[in-house]
Amino acid sequence: MKFEVTILGSSSATPVYNRNPTAQLLNCNEKVYLIDCGEGIQQQMIRYGYKTSKIDYIFISHLHGDHYFGLIGLLSSMHLNGRIKPVQLFAPAPLLEILELQFKHSDTILRYPLEFTPVYADENRLIYENADVSVETIVLNHRIPCTGYKFTEKKRLRKLLVEKLEADGVPVSYYPLLKRGVDLDLPDGKVILNADYTIDSNAPKSYCYCSDTLADDSYLEPLRNCTMLYHEATFLQEMLDRANQTFHSTALQAAEVAVRVGAGKLLIGHFSSRYKTLQPLLDEAAAVFPNTELALEGITFEI
Ligand SMILES: [Zn+2]
Ligand SMILES: [Zn+2]
Repeated sequence: MKFEVTILGSSSATPVYNRNPTAQLLNCNEKVYLIDCGEGIQQQMIRYGYKTSKIDYIFISHLHGDHYFGLIGLLSSMHLNGRIKPVQLFAPAPLLEILELQFKHSDTILRYPLEFTPVYADENRLIYENADVSVETIVLNHRIPCTGYKFTEKKRLRKLLVEKLEADGVPVSYYPLLKRGVDLDLPDGKVILNADYTIDSNAPKSYCYCSDTLADDSYLEPLRNCTMLYHEATFLQEMLDRANQTFHSTALQAAEVAVRVGAGKLLIGHFSSRYKTLQPLLDEAAAVFPNTELALEGITFEI
């Protein structure tokens, strides 16, 4: 099953040096989940060859403009392009009021259902699940209410040892039961033990997205042993005071979080406009957590 994330924006606050504000596309089994929606997202999707019509789910972390100023444009374009499929939007409650005001004064009545689920930054909650993935909030510590999101693959069915099944003449019609872990009593009296003919599927992978946060202990628990952690790294450690004042993290702190939670891989992003080149941020994080990469725009990371 495909489980990958494409970076569309990695700048904090303002667009600079061809870097755009935060937006990411998560592809899970060919369903597309948009995570944050910074200004410029539509141009970014065109640039990297993604269709906005594929997006069925949108998750917004908080209401600083660099995380949602692209939303009114994106939703309006979906309307103008004749979309009728629903869009599920998960976001802080006041966003609905903001959008409704914008639509009211442009006399826009969307052709498609915009299904809004308010997200509250008080406790971590399961907010959505389907056959492929579950989505939980991660309450972060930012200047305004802010939640990250944890996407966890659903456990797959057991894998069949097909050659052995064929060799022993087990009818194909029993395969679905075997995939679900059932032992079989065949009509001829033969007993087929599931453990002899199947193996466990791979452990479910998880992607944790921590958008804007002061690095502290409060949000580590849901990140434990995640396959991939995206963590903001707005500043270098030499700017720690500034990071604390603005409720942001340094590259070093992002790497320390990755170490503490046992993440498989770390992506850092949300870079301050003061950094024209990003190598120093990568170097600082990778010295502590070697399996770190920059969340560079246009790059797709397999989770
Ligand atoms: Zn931000
Ligand atoms: Zn913010």
